[in-house]
Parts: sequence; structure tokens; C-alpha cells
Amino acid sequence: MRLILASRNAHKIRELGPLLAPHELEPLPDDVELPPEDGETFAVNALGKARAAAAATGRAAIADDSGIVAQALGGAPGVRSARFAGQDATDEENLARLLREAPAGSELAYVCALAFVDPGDGVEYLVEGRCTGTLAAEPRGEGGFGYDPAFVPDDDATERTMAELDPAEKDAISHRGRAAGALADRLRERS
Ligand code: IMP
Repeated sequence: MRLILASRNAHKIRELGPLLAPHELEPLPDDVELPPEDGETFAVNALGKARAAAAATGRAAIADDSGIVAQALGGAPGVRSARFAGQDATDEENLARLLREAPAGSELAYVCALAFVDPGDGVEYLVEGRCTGTLAAEPRGEGGFGYDPAFVPDDDATERTMAELDPAEKDAISHRGRAAGALADRLRERS
């Protein structure tokens, strides 16, 4: 199935493409406006973006909303992960704030909500994937993006950060990989 991906985040597009194969992802047309990500949950934000993309294009669309939850910070930054250090903060600035405010070794979780909307028959699916881990003492590794250099996943026994795993290793345990697997199952049941 060909799906519009309601995202302009190049990292997500690169990661979700292989994860959802054999479905094919198409970029969101430039003129489609997405709603602001101001919901209180990842699910609300993902569904809002997928609905907007499906309504504007008349095509089946998917959208993800994801972020990191730090237990030591009462669940922050959560849905505000992309703006943790300020409205236009870079990944590096957000990561630096997390390292400053949460203690090394404290508990983290990555969460990814993935929404599917088919405007043809009105079907909507919403799935979620989680990946737990701990905060590294300092950033390590060049792979991945965002908070990956400081995220040591529980499901890898080598103590490497997400940014030190190769893409296939990250996909196998990541929040996005798990959400994509759950969505692929739902799409298979449907066909
Ligand atoms: P949004 O889903 O576009 O609102 O942004 C998600 C935010 O969470 C980004 O700032 C990323 O830095 C962070 N994030 C989401 N997924 C990952 C991941 O797989 N690795 C590292 N950071 C992530």
C-alpha cells in the first residue's frame, strides 16, 4: 500500500521507510499544512497529523509523534521533546538540557505513537511502541538523531548508546520499530 507520511522530519522518514516495507511511503506534498503538535499525548498529536494529511490529499496517510520521557523529571520532556530547550532548539541543545537536569543512570523511555487514517473507508488505527533505557553520563556515538547519544537501551546488553548501534540494531528495539511492527500487523489483518 502507498502511504503519505505526514512528517517533514528527514530522520523519521529515513527510519520509517524500511520499517514499514513492503508498504511504500510518499512524502507529504509541500502545500499541505500540518496542525501544531500541541496535544497532551503522543497519540493525539499523531492522529491529528495523519487526519490532516489524509483530508488534504484524499489518500491514506500515517503520522508519528514521538519523544523521550525521563522519570527523574516527572515524565518531561515528553510531548515537548523537540522543544525542550526552547521553541527553535537544536537536537544538541535539547540533549544538553536533559544531561544537565537528569542524573546519569536514571530511567528513560522513548515513546512513539503511530496513526493511520484512510479517508476512503474512514478506517483509523493508532498504535504505540516503547523502548526503555537509562541516561548515559555523557553523549557517545554518531548514529541516530536527537537524544540517541545519551540513551542506553535496556534491550541491548552491551551498554552502547542508541547512537552507537547500527540502524538495524536500533530498529529491532526502538519505540519507532515497535510501533511500525504493530501498525504493519494491523494493515496485514485488513488486507
Ligand atoms: P516530534 O515527534 O517531531 O514532535 O519530535 C520528537 C522529538 O523526540 C525530537 O526532538 C527527537 O529529538 C526526539 N526523538 C524522537 N524519536 C527519537 C529517536 O528515535 N531518537 C532520538 N530522539 C528521538
